[in-house]
Amino acid sequence: MHTFQDLGLSPLIIKSVSELGFETPTPIQEKAIPVLLSGTTDFVGLAQTGTGKTAAFGLPLLQLIEVEQRFPQALIVCPTRELCLQITNDIKHYKKHIAGVAIEPVYGGASITMQMRNLKKGVQIVVATPGRLIDLIERKAIDLEKVKYVVLDEADEMLNMGFRDDIDFVLQNTINRESIWLFSATMPPEVRAIAKNYMTTPKEVTVGKKNSGNVNINHRYYITSALHRYETLKRLIDFNPGMYGIIFTRTKADAQEISELLSKSGYDIEALHGDLTQQQRDKVMGRFRNKTLQLLIATDVAARGIDVDGITHVINYELPDDMEVYTHRSGRTARAGKTGICVSICHSRELYKIKQLEKMINAPFQRMEIPNGQEVVRKQFFHFMDKLASADISQGNYEAFLPDLMRKFENISKEEVLQRIAALEFDQFVRYYENAEDLNIKNEPRSKGDSNNKSYSNNARNSHRQSYHNDNGYTRLFINLGTKDGFYKASFLQFILDESNLRKDVLGKIDMREMNTWVEVDSKDAGKMIKSLDGKKYNKRVIRMNEADGGYKKSSTSNKRGARN
Ligand code: AMP
Repeated sequence: MHTFQDLGLSPLIIKSVSELGFETPTPIQEKAIPVLLSGTTDFVGLAQTGTGKTAAFGLPLLQLIEVEQRFPQALIVCPTRELCLQITNDIKHYKKHIAGVAIEPVYGGASITMQMRNLKKGVQIVVATPGRLIDLIERKAIDLEKVKYVVLDEADEMLNMGFRDDIDFVLQNTINRESIWLFSATMPPEVRAIAKNYMTTPKEVTVGKKNSGNVNINHRYYITSALHRYETLKRLIDFNPGMYGIIFTRTKADAQEISELLSKSGYDIEALHGDLTQQQRDKVMGRFRNKTLQLLIATDVAARGIDVDGITHVINYELPDDMEVYTHRSGRTARAGKTGICVSICHSRELYKIKQLEKMINAPFQRMEIPNGQEVVRKQFFHFMDKLASADISQGNYEAFLPDLMRKFENISKEEVLQRIAALEFDQFVRYYENAEDLNIKNEPRSKGDSNNKSYSNNARNSHRQSYHNDNGYTRLFINLGTKDGFYKASFLQFILDESNLRKDVLGKIDMREMNTWVEVDSKDAGKMIKSLDGKKYNKRVIRMNEADGGYKKSSTSNKRGARN
């Protein structure tokens, strides 16, 4: 095993690293740092979050940049604002003993003028999300000419989010770069294409098995009907009283609705979504991080970049459409050598997805029975009794009450006392689960059946979607604007969001062509989006926006929109 000294890092960098408590390099650091320190070798690192990859590229960058030159020399591009801030924060720690290094995070959703001002002051390292970066390039607020090192972090994630054109643009515009360092959890063909198109004989390093997930994650799935998804979630939470977990939903609306329902029922849960202000978001994350909040529910977009230790469970309220998203979700647990459980609530028609996942991450998935009411009560009961048996009584002067207590209970046996405590604590819970129905689906695969139920509003809403709505909760919209109008995906998405005053987590996939674009928008918000854009003008051209698949094709009117629902 190597030390940080062996890898060729300077004493000042090693000093800050050891102050952070890093004793030995992680495998990705061991493999990447000596290569990256050369500065001129293109690099592909297959590593998931949690492997120490930020330091793997951050430390060599700090050693390579010329501190006295105050222009961008290193550009780190990453998919989300959270990750952008996290990388910046990590590198700030690493540069603690190196004077004169300036690093600037640039990301959407924050004041661009402030970011432009900071860039003007002269920084050597820029950490950017693609959309904002393109915006800054277009405004000539950032000079990429002298960038020597381009880091693409979570490249697969950026491509998943539709940033391919933006990445191409960035790579085409960093003409004097000396190397590209690409990090990705998985290696789909699109990522491979970047390596092929822009890199020269890259050094490829894999941490762990290729395409394999973390071996410390136990993958489980439960099969239920769409109607019972929410109840299954609730039951699984009840069955795991020590759970400290993140629940993933596909849409913001689901995250909000489930969070509200569970909160009302007394669960310690909060939703993380794009509508929160940064302050609210930090507050939720703070509570979750210090474990005063037990459960977090979020969409993939909102939860990106979150790095919290000790998460016991990741729950997929629904399986993600994109199988690689599964790897990212499950990677929130089992960090730093700990074990964790990734639970998926599935529909019987999704079994093929489980098979695909098993192949993709090369790990078995365990089919589990959804526990029945009695099992849940028993589990909760003993969890409570264990807590009772091990309660710390040293803090209060309880002994002082003992004589009176003994007198009060002199005719009651220990058995009865325990039962009374149980009754006080559990009566309501027992009643709730008394006639709990079996949520398992026994005969799979089932065909159409469950989508006709209406009990849980979300599922009802989703399952009653008309033909031109995708199953995933999005409506695909057509718009007569494309790259010919000077748009890139990110700048286009920003444009339609600004026009419609919607948040970015309403957006799904985007398919941009020269003349036209198709974009998925949360079905709930599709009408608002159309209303905000259809008929408006862009560069003297009348914008036409309508539902793409089925529905009305011509320019929309409010009448037609009304008729849809
Ligand atoms: P990352 O994969 O960059 O998100 O890093 C995951 C976590 O590991 C972060 O909390 C880092 O601070 C921590 N870390 C990175 N390198 C080391 C190391 N060599 N030893 C111990 N912890 C580390």
